[in-house]
Amino acid sequence: MQRFTSFIHTATARLAVSYLAIIMLMSIGFSVVFYNATVRELGHRGPIPGLFDDRGSDNSTTAVRRQIIEDYLRVRAEEGREALLRRLVVLNVFALASGSALSYYLSRRTLKPIEENMASQAQFVSDASHELRTPLTAMQTMNEVALRHETLPSKEAKEIIRNNIEEVIKLKDLTNGLLRLARADGTELPKSAISLQKIALEAMNRVVSLAQSKNISVEDATADVKVLGDMQSLTQCVAVLLDNAIKYSPEGSTVYLSSEKKGRYGYLRVRDEGSGIRLYDLRKIFDRFYRADQSRNKQIVEGHGIGLSLARKIVEKHSGELTAVSTVGKGSTFTLKVPLA
Ligand code: ADP
Repeated sequence: MQRFTSFIHTATARLAVSYLAIIMLMSIGFSVVFYNATVRELGHRGPIPGLFDDRGSDNSTTAVRRQIIEDYLRVRAEEGREALLRRLVVLNVFALASGSALSYYLSRRTLKPIEENMASQAQFVSDASHELRTPLTAMQTMNEVALRHETLPSKEAKEIIRNNIEEVIKLKDLTNGLLRLARADGTELPKSAISLQKIALEAMNRVVSLAQSKNISVEDATADVKVLGDMQSLTQCVAVLLDNAIKYSPEGSTVYLSSEKKGRYGYLRVRDEGSGIRLYDLRKIFDRFYRADQSRNKQIVEGHGIGLSLARKIVEKHSGELTAVSTVGKGSTFTLKVPLA
């Protein structure tokens, strides 16, 4: 009984009741209209033409015959009305039973994507809070330890401030990434004909200093393939791929950029000679906050695991695809596929 009471208060039950009310309202409404129309029709049925031929019979016999037949018709009409009423009641009971099942099914179907969305939002908030808490806790510990020192040498104090600034930069990066992710979710992108070559060039400009710091050269072999898209967000997407290619590649290696036109799509590829990605991770790297081989990577390479999920979201907003193939120890290739202009 308690389980039933708590079920009644769920969103599913409330929606199911609303659906059922609509179904029953329609079913009962149609039944009432049908019943009234039929009863009216039965009541108006007049004498059958030619049934009473008065020739050769006296008036009293005709009146008796007429009475008998009219009584018979009235009884039949009454029986018909009762039978109709019974059938309509049975029909509505059946509508109630099947309508309940249908309403429950429909309400589950309606609420499922909403529930999934809410669960994903809750997961997002929880993951984001976790990511934010890590640098904040590091800063708190650092500052508390420093405060316990009665006479903190200025050299050490400066070191702590430097570490604090590093953590603040990480936090800023993370919040910027989260903001972009949230924006990519909502807004519709303005699209026009843009060149994959131009996108590649813009994206390369954004990672020049990182590439130089690791002595990595980026070889650009893209052609002037025109796709239908938003310059700003596609550049951001390619910049994420280039940034990763450089981050996860050894010093002195090369990153290759190429493009292709096939069917109705334009393709842009970013290939590196880096660490590669295991098959298990390959399926998950586009998930929010996922970082492959966490324990190892997190210490060596900075990141929050939101770059690729943002990149994929951007490509999906272009009705395209972002895919990856990789061989551990040899490198990875990320391919962006967008409709041609
Ligand atoms: P981040 O780089 O900030 O960790 P991303 O979402 O951009 O987040 O990437 C998710 C994970 O995918 C990375 O942590 C890394 O393990 C893996 N990854 C992405 N690109 C590459 C690459 N080019 N080579 C090897 N691993 C990669």
